[in-house]
Amino acid sequence: MSESQMILQQLSEATGVSGDEQDVRSVVLNAIRACVDDLRIDSIGNILAVKRGKDENGVRVMVSAHMDEVGFMVVGHNGDGFLKFRTVGGIDARILPGASISVGPKRLPGVIGVKPVHLLKSSDEAEQVAKVDDLMVDIGAKNKSEAEKLAPLGTYATFASHFRELGPCVSGKAFDDRAGCAILIEVLRATEALGCELHAAFTVQEEVGLRGARVAAFAIDPECAFALEGTIADDLPKDKPGTSPTTELGKGPAITVMDRSFIADRRLVRLVTGTAEELGIPYQIKQPGIGGTDAGAIHRSRGGVPSITLAVPCRYIHSPAALMNLADFGRTVRLLRESLSRLTRDTLRREP
Ligand SMILES: [Zn+2]
Repeated sequence: MSESQMILQQLSEATGVSGDEQDVRSVVLNAIRACVDDLRIDSIGNILAVKRGKDENGVRVMVSAHMDEVGFMVVGHNGDGFLKFRTVGGIDARILPGASISVGPKRLPGVIGVKPVHLLKSSDEAEQVAKVDDLMVDIGAKNKSEAEKLAPLGTYATFASHFRELGPCVSGKAFDDRAGCAILIEVLRATEALGCELHAAFTVQEEVGLRGARVAAFAIDPECAFALEGTIADDLPKDKPGTSPTTELGKGPAITVMDRSFIADRRLVRLVTGTAEELGIPYQIKQPGIGGTDAGAIHRSRGGVPSITLAVPCRYIHSPAALMNLADFGRTVRLLRESLSRLTRDTLRREP
């Protein structure tokens, strides 16, 4: 396994539900400490790192990737020792029954309970999707007081998943957005300095409303920004002929021109697509109008920040096991790096 893959594995297996990112923060800090010129953790937990460029007057560019992942929080205990929970961030209730999860900082094993198929009373019942409010986590506690002791109110939980290699792909939890974190780490660790002044922001609480990126962008006050993501690939057997998938695995980095949170700056879209075409790096335009990223908060910071989102396509995001093609990952690292190396103030000059 390459070093970059090992870092990706550590990032994927670290737990970091929104507001509880410290495990991820420590993996990131270990990976970048030796290769940045300035490093600090801000008041709400974002990692802000600076890598100065060759040119003293280079463009001040923010590149962000969020450290948090979707997960669960304990909100109650019932008399039999089961845990009631809420989801933190967007999780589809259909994938929950029977899922293995890790509860709390000691990673207690837990299972989201499910009624055995033998006991379903009718075909109607088999087709119903259980609501999150009706589901419980079983941690093997004997009774309510033991459950309260092991997992008090407010305890976080995540999917319990392992990182695995599957041919040209890898699978694991939280590639949204640990893939982005790993890309940003790779770019910071590359030995050759860029022309621009690179402000890396590993942000918190994206999945609950782009909260970390908002304060990070204010503090950095960048001239332009790139948000990195692990994004939706829905290139599955098509049930609706005629609709194009959001993105597809194996077709290179996905460039966002518009999603629900922002419209990408056209000058940056031209920079990135032009760089890809010049170097023969395959890329795809993410189907417009879907999802949202940290760029949604960054572009509205202060007097406005021209922004773009670059993402690695991942199947099954926000589930226990996303799937990502390693060639797409490598091409995203290269496209980001090469785009940054071509970024100058001319790129950002506004045509009349
Ligand atoms: Zn994300």
